[in-house]
Amino acid sequence: MAPVAKVGGLADVISGLGKALQKKGHLVEIILPKYDCMQVDQVSNLKVLDVLVQSYFEGNMFNNKIWTGTVEGLPVYFIEPQHPAMFFSRAQYYGEHDDFKRFAYFSRAALELLYQSGKKVDIIHCHDWQTAFVAPLYWDVYANLGFNSARICFTCHNFEYQGTAPARDLAWCGLDVEHLDRPDRMRDNSHGRINAVKGAIVYSNIVTTVSPTYALEVRSEGGRGLQDTLKVHSRKFLGILNGIDTDTWNPSTDRYLKVQYNAKDLQGKAANKAALREQLNLASAYPSQPLVGCITRLVAQKGVHLIRHAIYKTAELGGQFVLLGSSPVPEIQREFEGIADHFQNNNNIRLILKYDDALSHCIYAASDMFIVPSIFEPCGLTQMIAMRYGSVPIVRKTGGLNDSVFDFDDETIPMEVRNGFTFVKADEQGLSSAMERAFNCYTRKPEVWKQLVQKDMTIDFSWDTSASQYEDIYQKAVARARAV
Ligand code: ADP
Repeated sequence: MAPVAKVGGLADVISGLGKALQKKGHLVEIILPKYDCMQVDQVSNLKVLDVLVQSYFEGNMFNNKIWTGTVEGLPVYFIEPQHPAMFFSRAQYYGEHDDFKRFAYFSRAALELLYQSGKKVDIIHCHDWQTAFVAPLYWDVYANLGFNSARICFTCHNFEYQGTAPARDLAWCGLDVEHLDRPDRMRDNSHGRINAVKGAIVYSNIVTTVSPTYALEVRSEGGRGLQDTLKVHSRKFLGILNGIDTDTWNPSTDRYLKVQYNAKDLQGKAANKAALREQLNLASAYPSQPLVGCITRLVAQKGVHLIRHAIYKTAELGGQFVLLGSSPVPEIQREFEGIADHFQNNNNIRLILKYDDALSHCIYAASDMFIVPSIFEPCGLTQMIAMRYGSVPIVRKTGGLNDSVFDFDDETIPMEVRNGFTFVKADEQGLSSAMERAFNCYTRKPEVWKQLVQKDMTIDFSWDTSASQYEDIYQKAVARARAV
């Protein structure tokens, strides 16, 4: 949940969608693990409650300390297990050898918290495999205890990550292995393990993913083995494009920026470009030299070879490139460290290989163009944030990129919606030609470019529309539940 515990886009969704639903009058409460590495300074009124919630795990009952606080105006419960494995005191959110165990524990404890609180919940909305256990636990365990007012919505933000384990490990959180280790329930479609996301697809009332195009893609190869399961459950499955949090991402109020600006005052944007160049020690003789930004997790999905190509191509086209990215994969991190070294003395290229929220805001504001050459992209937020800051996206037509970026030169679509540059094939040629078209427009037709920037900055990427779609499916599920 941004900004307290953020790794990527999922964090933005939790606070963005949460706030939008709250604004529509719903009571939204968030449950998170009490990670030792979270940004506690972003939580107001953090305090421990005077109750202990006991939850089941591996044959024993464990106490959980429950903390509450407010994040971005949303009430949050933080669960701190009193378990010897110190599940959430690992100095990172995920990537531990026992992640399956950590999140199976969390899912059980979170449901127990809701059950013991006596709340009459309408919708429990779970995100990604880490909370997928909630769906079978709710229907197989808690509904039998009379805690059955809720309907479960599961959102998969990326089908690459499914949470698999040997079937017996399901028993840790109290699930019935024999009952669930079946091809129509939780057994993985291609090997003998069990699959948490499959369980959530089978057991949830609503299943969503984060864009309409990705929802189509995952019904075939994009489903990483779950395509058949999604087809069987297609009636409850749909893609809803994420919004962005337009309070956090607002160039006219953004405190991280040197100068705030809006679509009518692009001087302010130029001032941010100058400031970033100074900060990163980039050449600054030509204010109009185009600056290309890229902010990403450096993983195969993001098209790392194309990102590398974009750096060299920008140098060739006479632009400047700023990459902000970090990689959980040591080889990729090393490769990019090598590229950073290679360009060390080149004052047109900077690679900053870390996670840095403040710097990300400055790069969105300073850049003229923004590269997202993903191999696949469930939704992608960076292209939308870039547009809001007047940086024109150059993206591969896949997943949510295909639902949010429309090619400037494509005469088959209305001019009003054309907002960036796209390419189809995931190869260097495709990317090069999109970049060339963008550079051409930028240098040869500055007035046209300016209008494009202004148009991009005024597109509505807020959560309003998408939150209404969630509201609609929640309400239908609740109505069905009440009719029963
Ligand atoms: P994903 O969830 O696959 O990482 P998204 O495009 O949905 O990709 O979301 C990425 C989010 O993470 C954006 O808010 C982006 O600004 C942020 N981000 C990614 N890498 C970094 C980084 N190195 N430093 C700061 N913010 C980052």
